[in-house]
Amino acid sequence: MDKRGNSKVAYTLENVKKCMCPKCPVQADSKCAMDKLDSFMKGLETAREGDVPEPQNVPGVYCSTGKTTCQDLNPNQQCICYTCAVWKEYNLGEGTPSMYFCQNGKAT
Ligand code: SF4
Ligand code: SF4
Repeated sequence: MDKRGNSKVAYTLENVKKCMCPKCPVQADSKCAMDKLDSFMKGLETAREGDVPEPQNVPGVYCSTGKTTCQDLNPNQQCICYTCAVWKEYNLGEGTPSMYFCQNGKAT
């Protein structure tokens, strides 16, 4: 379910799984993001049907939940949202911001 109320992109496990952020070079050298990814992946193994992790523990779907809480990302690297099924499905390229949601906040 969308816990943020007014998000354009639904915060669902399906979208979390489609998100390309875990493979993004902007986050690749972020210890903060990789630690979240690690615990998120471990959590998935034990998750029950319908469980959705808390947004602050997911290093992605920033288009839905807004800016990252991690301070050590590298926005000089290339955002890969344009490769993501969620980005295409919601036509996020036409919105503002259209990419770098981890830095610019959620899609509107
Ligand atoms: S559009 Fe970007 S932030 Fe949103 S789910 Fe896809 S990769 Fe993640
Ligand atoms: S929003 Fe874009 S720049 Fe930020 S982590 Fe996801 S793919 Fe990378």
